[in-house]
Amino acid sequence: RAKEEGRNNSQIFAPEMNFRVDLLFSMEKDLRLALERGELFLQYQPQADLASGTLRGIEALIRWQHPVKGLVSPAEFIPVAEETGQITAIGEWVLRTACTQMAEWRKAGLPDLSMAVNLSIRQLRQPILGDMVRSILQETGLEPRCLELEITEGIMMGDNQVAMRFLNEMQALGVQLSIDDFGTGFSSLNYLKMLPVNKLKIDQSFIRDIETDEGDAAIIRSIISLGHRLNLRVIAEGVETQEQLDFLRIRGCDEIQGYFYARPLAADAVMAFVRNPPRLA
Ligand code: C2E
Ligand code: MG
Ligand code: MG
Ligand code: MG
Repeated sequence: RAKEEGRNNSQIFAPEMNFRVDLLFSMEKDLRLALERGELFLQYQPQADLASGTLRGIEALIRWQHPVKGLVSPAEFIPVAEETGQITAIGEWVLRTACTQMAEWRKAGLPDLSMAVNLSIRQLRQPILGDMVRSILQETGLEPRCLELEITEGIMMGDNQVAMRFLNEMQALGVQLSIDDFGTGFSSLNYLKMLPVNKLKIDQSFIRDIETDEGDAAIIRSIISLGHRLNLRVIAEGVETQEQLDFLRIRGCDEIQGYFYARPLAADAVMAFVRNPPRLA
């Protein structure tokens, strides 16, 4: 019966599915307006080098100031944007905004740091992504080595020919590549060996209980030594305490990112931070 009445008939959905679909549609519409109305913006979280204790890079993180709901977390709307395909337009906006901003800061005297931008799997499946990155770098005049692209282990699953071509193209261009949330996916180490990346980002879920959870501590030690054996730099995300920092430093982790060093900052707070960054003890 449901089939006779057409594929869009809500009778074919369970009520909770129906609710989910409505939510998806309203979020899709809101997201389209968000781009048009300029409700999206970026915050920038500094990353520190552990050996020198100095600023090393910055990660761009998207934010959405919704007119009614207030600040909506990317954890909430990025998955929707991926499902609806809107991540393509949003992702291009993020790349252009982050590169434009970084090029401006470079002109204003910001040292040679990297600006990390998150890419979703769906973007990596677009054959034109390489052209887009190249033209954004050209437009903004940002040096390729100052751009870092964060991908997740998910790209190793399924057909990844387009993504592999893109990663190789970026590497040839001098753009840095890192694997975000490392340890949470199911990447085969064989794939890891083939990926042209520079850096592993240990997922923050392993850092939280670093001092009490022996399993997490063992995983962290393994990721650091795996990374170093593959000639990759290793950064830990979500570092909130001096104790976590000490643990990571003793085990040879290269960099940290987290509230302990700096929270994500508004664009206009970044230069002040750079002029007077905290020194890690
Ligand atoms: P991610 O790329 O792994 O980013 C790190 C997340 O950890 C950010 O959450 C950041 O604000 C948060 N964080 C940083 N330091 C700490 C800390 O010390 N403690 C805790 N508890 N959290 C910390 P945020 O900004 O909510 O972003 C969540 C996720 O949304 C990101 O995870 C990333 O996967 C995605 N995302 C954010 N911006 C973009 C974007 O422009 N494009 C895409 N495709 N995804 C994005
Ligand atoms: Mg990230
Ligand atoms: Mg992460
Ligand atoms: Mg994440």
